[in-house]
Amino acid sequence: MAASLRLFGAASGLRYWSRRLRPAAGSLAVVCSRSVASKTPVGFIGLGNMGNPMAKNLMKHGYPLIIYDVFPDACKEFQDAGEQVVSSPADVAEKADRIITMLPTSINAVEAYSGANGILKKVKKGSLLIDSSTIDPAVSKELAKEVEKMGAVFMDAPVSGGVGAARSGNLTFMVGGVEDEFAAAQELLGCMGSNVVYCGAVGTGQAAKICNNMLLAISMIGTAEAMNLGIRLGLDPKLLAKILNMSSGRCWSSDTYNPVPGVMDGVPSANNYQGGFGTTLMAKDLGLAQDSATSTKSPILLGSLAHQIYRMMCAKGYSKKDFSSVFQFLREEETF
Ligand code: NAD
Repeated sequence: MAASLRLFGAASGLRYWSRRLRPAAGSLAVVCSRSVASKTPVGFIGLGNMGNPMAKNLMKHGYPLIIYDVFPDACKEFQDAGEQVVSSPADVAEKADRIITMLPTSINAVEAYSGANGILKKVKKGSLLIDSSTIDPAVSKELAKEVEKMGAVFMDAPVSGGVGAARSGNLTFMVGGVEDEFAAAQELLGCMGSNVVYCGAVGTGQAAKICNNMLLAISMIGTAEAMNLGIRLGLDPKLLAKILNMSSGRCWSSDTYNPVPGVMDGVPSANNYQGGFGTTLMAKDLGLAQDSATSTKSPILLGSLAHQIYRMMCAKGYSKKDFSSVFQFLREEETF
C-alpha cells in the first residue's frame, strides 16, 4: 500500500512522498529547469517559530538563502551565518527564483505577495513560489491567479508537526497546485519534512491543513479535560497519561504534546507554555475552519465550540501561550 502511494501516476491519483520511500536521485518524473539548478539561492520570508528551523534545514542541505522578515531581529542569526538578508519581499524575488513564505495569517501573506514591496513587484517569470503559511484556501487561490499572471507558479504547502518537527526536518507538507510542479516543490520541501503529500489543485493543501487543525484543537481540549478530571479524582498525572497512551483515548495531544506540566519533557507545557503553536494561531485556524464550514454548509459542532474556547483564551491573556495552555485555562475556570 505505502509503496504504491509514492508512485507518480499511481492509479489512486494520490501523490505521496515519504523520506523512508525516497526515490533514487534522478528518478523523478518531472524535473524542470529550476530544480536542475538545485543549489541556486532559495528565498525565505517569515523566520518565526516555524520559519527559523525550516530555513536552517535548507541551509543544512546546502541551499544559500535570501532572507526577509518584517521583524529584523528574526534575520540576525541568518546574517551571522553568512546568509543574505534583504529589505523587502520584492528584493527576495529579484534574487531568488524559488521562494518559501512562512507567515502567520492570510493578511500577512497578501502583504508579502501583493503589498507595495511585495514579491509580485519583482518576481521573475518561471519562479516557483511556495506558501507554507496556514491561510484561507480562497486567498491561496487568489494569490495563485496573481502569480500566474506574472508567468510564475504558486503552490500552497502548509505544514503539520509543530516546532519540534520543524527542527528535526520531519514536517508533513500538504501541497496544492499544478501537479507538474510537484517534483520541483518536493526537492525543497523534502529538506524540511519527512512527508510531502500532493493534495490536488491550489487550495487543497490548505483544506487538508484546516481539517487537521480543527481535529487537533478538539483533541487537545478533550485531553486537557480528561487529564484535569483525572487529577481531581486523585490520579497521578503521569500515571493517567501512561494509561491513556496505552488505551483507546490515546492521541497526539496525549502522547506527544501532553498539556499537563510535569508529564513530558521538551514540550511547551514543560516550559510555562512558551514557544510552540500560539493560541492566537489556533484560534485563527479554527476561524478558517468555521468559514469553510459555512461556505460548504458542513456541520462542525465541536469545531465551532473549540473556536469559541480558543477565542476566549485569547481575550483572557493566553494569546501568546502555546495552545496546550487550554489545560491551564480550564484550571482557572474550575469554579464553574
Ligand atoms: P510566528 O508568528 O512565530 O512567525 C511568523 C514570522 O513572520 C514572524 O517572524 C513575523 O515577523 C513574520 N512576518 C509577519 N508578517 C510578515 C510580512 N508581511 N513579511 C515578512 N515577514 C512577516 O508564526 P509561526 O508559528 O512560525 O507560524 C507560521 C505559520 O505556520 C502560521 O500560519 C501557522 O498557523 C503555521 N503553523 C505553525 C505551527 C507551530 O507550531 N508554530 C505548526 C504548523 C503550522
